[in-house]
Amino acid sequence: MIIEDFIPKANTNRPGNPIRPSHITVHETANTDVGANAQMHANYLKSEEAQEREVSWHYTVDDSKTYQHLLEDEIGWHAGSEGNKKSIGVELCVNNDGDFFKTRNRGIKLIRLLMRKWDIPLSRVVPHYYWTGKDCPAQLLNEWSIFKDQIADRSEGPSIVDKPMLEVITEELWVYDEPDWQSKYEVVQEGEIFTIVSELTVNGSTMYQLKSGLYITGNRDFVKRIS
Ligand SMILES: [Zn+2]
Repeated sequence: MIIEDFIPKANTNRPGNPIRPSHITVHETANTDVGANAQMHANYLKSEEAQEREVSWHYTVDDSKTYQHLLEDEIGWHAGSEGNKKSIGVELCVNNDGDFFKTRNRGIKLIRLLMRKWDIPLSRVVPHYYWTGKDCPAQLLNEWSIFKDQIADRSEGPSIVDKPMLEVITEELWVYDEPDWQSKYEVVQEGEIFTIVSELTVNGSTMYQLKSGLYITGNRDFVKRIS
């Protein structure tokens, strides 16, 4: 459910200029304080401080709630002049008392909704970094292509963001010609051995499923053949 809690029209950080959004810009709030959830940011955006700092955006998502602060087709101040004119700004909360994986999942659902509503292709879902070079969204930038793949994966069932992404650490290298994913390959991850049960390629990046809800990314060269 989206809670509408708009910035008052009289506030200077809601200038009201109409836009036709062609992009979605993803941010993280960078505020890890306990309590820095979506409601707190909704209050912040209505404050004097937000007006002085000249900031505003459209949505803030935390692990249980989503707040809307601006209409989707009016300008916000979150991504530099070009990004502001072209995009809907979505902030994901990173408060220490929140569950970022839930927040991330909820953010993905909102982004899918906005993509459908405004006919925005996945290629135009961009990080704040894209517009201004700012290190934002700081955590998701490290795995941006995975995040995009997760937005694209509309299949129901176990979500691939239920668990943190892990890296393949085995050094054992097997070269093979005909990959057969029927229980023939395994990876060692933090001492635990997983058998790869399937692979999934979305927009050119490949992920390997270790079990329900747990995927890895990585080069096949690091996959060990066990049969
Ligand atoms: Zn940002």
